Amino acid sequence: MATIDFTTTQRERLTDLGVPAETVAAALGALEADDAGARNEKYRALELAAVRENRDGLSRLAEDDRVTPSLNTIAALADWLRGEGYTRVETPIIIPFTMLDKMTITEDEPLRDQVFRVDKNKCLRPMLAPGLYVLMRELHRILGRPVRIFEAGSCFRRETEGSKHLTEFTMLNMVEFAGVEDGGQRAKLEGLAAGAMAAVGIDDYTLETEASVVYGETIDIVSKDGLELASASYGPHSLDPNWGVFETWVGIGFGIERVTLAKCGGENIKRYSKSVNYLGGMSLRV
Ligand code: ATP
Ligand code: MG
Repeated sequence: MATIDFTTTQRERLTDLGVPAETVAAALGALEADDAGARNEKYRALELAAVRENRDGLSRLAEDDRVTPSLNTIAALADWLRGEGYTRVETPIIIPFTMLDKMTITEDEPLRDQVFRVDKNKCLRPMLAPGLYVLMRELHRILGRPVRIFEAGSCFRRETEGSKHLTEFTMLNMVEFAGVEDGGQRAKLEGLAAGAMAAVGIDDYTLETEASVVYGETIDIVSKDGLELASASYGPHSLDPNWGVFETWVGIGFGIERVTLAKCGGENIKRYSKSVNYLGGMSLRV
């Protein structure tokens, strides 16, 4: 049976406005083949409705919520973590390459190609772990007791940008150092994953064990749609001696925009990213 499709420009516009793929498919399915006039009329109706929805969403954001869904995800996790005894910290976004070497992301490692160089010795951090390794070690040395800290901030990776990857994204990384009994790391992580998902309001997720270049093994939190929301790992770990660290630890790194996408729905992570084209899940091209 002959079918009709929207033009590329029409399709791109509907995608930008966040019209779900199934809505587009249903609209096309109801059309006669070869009737471009009816197709264009359908397009205009879909576009008009979507523009209205995006505008209404922006108006709700400015008048009621006053915080974007991504910032809300950070706030929900931060509130929960403060309640669990974690202190919020910030470490530099520009870091020396020597810190990546200590993460075994060395010159010959493919991950190194994803790193943005700032100058001969420095780069934009692709992860928060280097800074947190130092802070947890130093705080433990000074305070002489278990350390619970977390950081939320931008990380940068030269990814082949798809609908699930951003060049600049926000990681929230939490770590408990010297507080878990050896052997109890995995159970501890399962509890923390449950706490985090409850805090952000996601009740459907699975834990999957993955091989990781940097960590050997990671436990991923995966959404019901198969999206990796976070990666957890634990020590004692082979990287630890590079950082002068010898105690147990557990840590989880959440991708804030991915968690927000899983919670709020939608097909492209860009809508929830730091952007001047989208705000709070809405397109500004309306
Ligand atoms: P993936 O395999 O999906 O590329 P990853 O395993 O390389 O992710 P991690 O290093 O485990 O990513 O980073 C921790 C979390 O940060 C991920 O679980 C994901 O939620 C998020 N994340 C990683 N890379 C990106 C990216 N380029 N854009 C958005 N979020 C990201
Ligand atoms: Mg991962």
